[in-house]
Amino acid sequence: MQNMAENAIVNDVDRESVRESPSKKGNRYPISQEQIDDVLNNELKDFAFPVKPTYNPRIWANGMTTGEMYKWGQLKDGTLSIQIGKQDRPDRKFLVDTILHEYYESQIMINQYSNAFYRQLSKKSILLQHEWIDEQIAEYFKGLEGKS
Ligand SMILES: [Zn+2]
Repeated sequence: MQNMAENAIVNDVDRESVRESPSKKGNRYPISQEQIDDVLNNELKDFAFPVKPTYNPRIWANGMTTGEMYKWGQLKDGTLSIQIGKQDRPDRKFLVDTILHEYYESQIMINQYSNAFYRQLSKKSILLQHEWIDEQIAEYFKGLEGKS
């Protein structure tokens, strides 16, 4: 999901489970910064995150990437943050998926001003942007299967 305030853009994970209102949600599973760090150092060690994903149990989504943008689409220095919330599912693969999702959200946010591919992508609907993100994540998990 993407909300536009004055000159800020907020991206949230836009999965079925997250679109429900918080009151309708079932269990959400607390995690820890250590679990996030462990995923970053193992499954996602080849991904250069622009900022360290940090645990915030107070956000309503599985993950949230935020940054302040200039009106012309450039990210303001030092405003990017990737937050990981409680998770809808307790398994590690779901957490990897969440963190990777936010990685790609951050890539769109960072590169939409400077890179033609990301500029085009950022102009598409949030739904189409998420189709692209989901494709990248599917590719990642397919690659893992090939290795095992
Ligand atoms: Zn998203």
